[in-house]
Amino acid sequence: MSLASSVSNEVDKTGAKVQRWLADHTPRHMINNEFVPSRSGAAFDAVDPTTESVLAAAASGDEADVDAAVTAARAALENGPWATAGPHDRARVLRRFAEVIVDNADELAHLETLNNGTPIGITRGGMTLTADRLQYFAGAAPYAAGQTMPSPSGRFTYTLREPVGVCAGIIPWNSPVSNAVKTFGPALAAGNTVILKPAEQTPLSAIRLAELAIDAGLPPGVFNVITGFGKSAGAALVRHPGVNKLNFTGSLETGRQVAREATANLKRVTLELGGKSPNIIFADADLSKAVPAAVNGFSKNAGQMCTAGSRLFVHESIREEFIDRIKEQLAGLTLGNPLDPQTTMGPLVSRQQMERVERYVEVGKAEGANIRFGGSPISGPGYFVEPTVFDQVNSDMRIAVEEIFGPVLSVISFTDEDEVVRQANESVFGLGAGVWTQDISRAHRLVRRLQAGTVWVNAYNALDVTMPFGGQKQSGIGRELGLDWYREFTEEKAVLINL
Ligand code: NAD
Repeated sequence: MSLASSVSNEVDKTGAKVQRWLADHTPRHMINNEFVPSRSGAAFDAVDPTTESVLAAAASGDEADVDAAVTAARAALENGPWATAGPHDRARVLRRFAEVIVDNADELAHLETLNNGTPIGITRGGMTLTADRLQYFAGAAPYAAGQTMPSPSGRFTYTLREPVGVCAGIIPWNSPVSNAVKTFGPALAAGNTVILKPAEQTPLSAIRLAELAIDAGLPPGVFNVITGFGKSAGAALVRHPGVNKLNFTGSLETGRQVAREATANLKRVTLELGGKSPNIIFADADLSKAVPAAVNGFSKNAGQMCTAGSRLFVHESIREEFIDRIKEQLAGLTLGNPLDPQTTMGPLVSRQQMERVERYVEVGKAEGANIRFGGSPISGPGYFVEPTVFDQVNSDMRIAVEEIFGPVLSVISFTDEDEVVRQANESVFGLGAGVWTQDISRAHRLVRRLQAGTVWVNAYNALDVTMPFGGQKQSGIGRELGLDWYREFTEEKAVLINL
């Protein structure tokens, strides 16, 4: 593993464009297709985690700004072109939005990488994923069909699917643009209006998305962005009685609080929360595929993935070989400037997150786990953390129980199937799980026995917009993506007509 010496963000053509955008940027929300400062005038700094320098200031929203956004979103829902647009009209606008995102993908990816430290190769791929998701939900727009029921001759009974209303999306910082689109894509396709609140660490790409939404032709009030902190802007959205549906993606702790407050006025709530996902390697696994997937599974995006395969269960008979091969692969990673296409691991998003991960490494050492790779601090600038592998981990150690959200892997060995299933399920989380085996019967048995929203067999962390995504147990409530997700943004109305 090498740490690239230069962390200065050199400016190429796309970079120059982004730098101009940042220089012109003033702290603003986007409400009703207008860019406006906070009512209070408050703002905060968005920081580049690679250089620790300030990129730009963002508006710090509170109740007054949220209220203005809800008023605009409500008005657009009830009057104006969006209220009367048919599904094909909405689909056309969303397809244009997807095209505009593709046209500006390099710039958006560059901005996202600058603000959250994700390697540019990943953020570029994320823009394709984002556009695909938007196209998928645009295509779903005409499918919000009701049903005709069998009824006696004197009656006609049927259902309609109507928009839920004003939908709020509160998202984290790990992949802001693709997290944003999974919220607003289906909502807009179904005829709702939206207020998006990005994480305080990454406010900038959401504002750029808002500009692109206007370019794509979304009418005023249909798509609004409020930037700011969770406790002010986020909490105001959660409490606002004018918000009909809330989609929250974030940590378990915040999710619990959000669920309590949002359900007080019976908003529809979807929660996508954390994970401590097991990735299970049986002795007959194809190691040439399992090793890179295991490394990627905990270290991609510096481990800042809700589905990170952070608990690696390896059959005792191959444990040493597997760890050696993981070490070999980690030694080939390049930590450094995430704008450099050669970089495979950038910094964590913030000093706070870096210190949190460093604390967990100390906890692991104190608990008696054995460091097999990494574990040393990296001096700044930049919030870099070495990928770190622990073995001799017991299932009850904190590093095996709590979500770290950094590149830290706990290796736990096992000898039989029942034992590994029991340990894998011994978690409050249930987001993802991986199984590596050539034995098809065993694969099917584990698919059924593992408590997870998604199980990958001989794969890890592969996502598809057509597949429902979400968590069992405390990893969340509800499923995102897939056609059922689109239907979640509709209310079913039953109609009975006496003939
Ligand atoms: P976080 O919970 O601190 O913040 C997430 C969002 O919630 C941010 O926009 C934040 O401003 C807002 N927020 C914070 N407090 C709030 C409050 N009281 N009321 C309303 N909003 C509030 O999470 P984070 O640390 O930014 O993100 C990492 C977490 O997100 C991890 O736990 C990760 O697993 C999870 N995550 C889950 C998924 C998924 O789909 N399951 C995807 C990505 C990330």
